[in-house]
Amino acid sequence: MKVTEHIQNANGKTLFSFEILPPLKGQNIQSIFDSIDPLIEFNPPFIDVTYHREEYEYKERENGLLQKKIVKKRPGTVGICAGIQNRYNVDAIPHILCGGFTKEDTENLLIDLDFLGIDNVVALRGDAVKSETYFKPEKEGHTYASELVTQISNLNKGIYLDEDLQNSTKTDFCIGVAGYPEKHMEAPSLDSDIHFVKQKIKNGADYIITQMFFDNQKFFDFVAKCRTEGITVPIIPGLKPLATVKQLNLIPHRFKVDLPDELVKEVVRAKNNEAVSQIGVEWCVGQSKQLIEAGIPFLHYYSMGKANNISAIAKQVF
Ligand SMILES: Cc1cc2nc3c(=O)[nH]c(=O)nc-3n(C[C@H](O)[C@H](O)[C@H](O)COP(=O)(O)OP(=O)(O)OC[C@H]3O[C@@H](n4cnc5c(N)ncnc54)[C@H](O)[C@@H]3O)c2cc1C
Repeated sequence: MKVTEHIQNANGKTLFSFEILPPLKGQNIQSIFDSIDPLIEFNPPFIDVTYHREEYEYKERENGLLQKKIVKKRPGTVGICAGIQNRYNVDAIPHILCGGFTKEDTENLLIDLDFLGIDNVVALRGDAVKSETYFKPEKEGHTYASELVTQISNLNKGIYLDEDLQNSTKTDFCIGVAGYPEKHMEAPSLDSDIHFVKQKIKNGADYIITQMFFDNQKFFDFVAKCRTEGITVPIIPGLKPLATVKQLNLIPHRFKVDLPDELVKEVVRAKNNEAVSQIGVEWCVGQSKQLIEAGIPFLHYYSMGKANNISAIAKQVF
């Protein structure tokens, strides 16, 4: 079932969903099931699975020259989605990227997803590869997520890349896209970023799912601005409980989001990571309850492969 249908069927009740990432290459799918099992009792209508593109590594050869090696550390997004749908009968939503994909690769991926009975995707640009400062599209690929949305919408209308195809099947994907309450790190301003979010909706996206935030006011302001700009689709908030002291610096650095002073002070005073995790859970429970009171249709949690704190939050909230 589509995310938008889940929202309609909920009749105003706030639903629980979460995101997982594929395990590092070499581990098996059981590690994924182990992280999902404790969360199934909270009836997630869908589970997101992130996509991780290849990275470049440079290894020094015996002659002193550097050799470029392409590695994909977390493969398996599509297989995991199929595994989730098969085992739990819950909708699994693969994230799909512009980065590393030609339009032809994207079309073939979408055909695989359609054949697997997966009818939701989240369409993203992806970040620059670690060794580069700016995002570089593939030669025959997309530069922005809005273009990827257009390709998926076209396939939903039966428009494939090969214009000579006759009687081609229409797919029926529900398309999610990213939104950033504190603006995307490359955007010159929040207004400019929202302008391009609107483009993604115009091109066919059905809902927005946000980057994590720790201050609900940022989310409420973002939603208000989107509505003023004429964006009417559901906006699903993304929430992440802080779990370690290290994340105080890591999260602002990696995701360009602010942490509220009150939260920072509490974490700095904590004796160990167990205490930090407790603080993170309590903070996230507070955020969740306020969002539910505001009538938000879905709360979406970034589990990062760890079920304990998400389960502790869900027990208090759902
Ligand atoms: C909910 C969520 C899930 C994510 N999942 C993954 C994942 O699974 N794998 C992964 O690798 N990454 C993931 N990301 C990270 C994401 O790929 C990065 O944040 C990426 O840098 C931007 O992706 P986007 O889809 O928002 O890009 P876009 O919407 O294309 O925007 C990228 C930037 O370009 C600007 N822009 C857009 N269109 C134009 C235009 N026409 N002209 C000029 N500027 C423009 C925007 O303002 C923004 O600054 C996720 C992010 C979120 C919020």
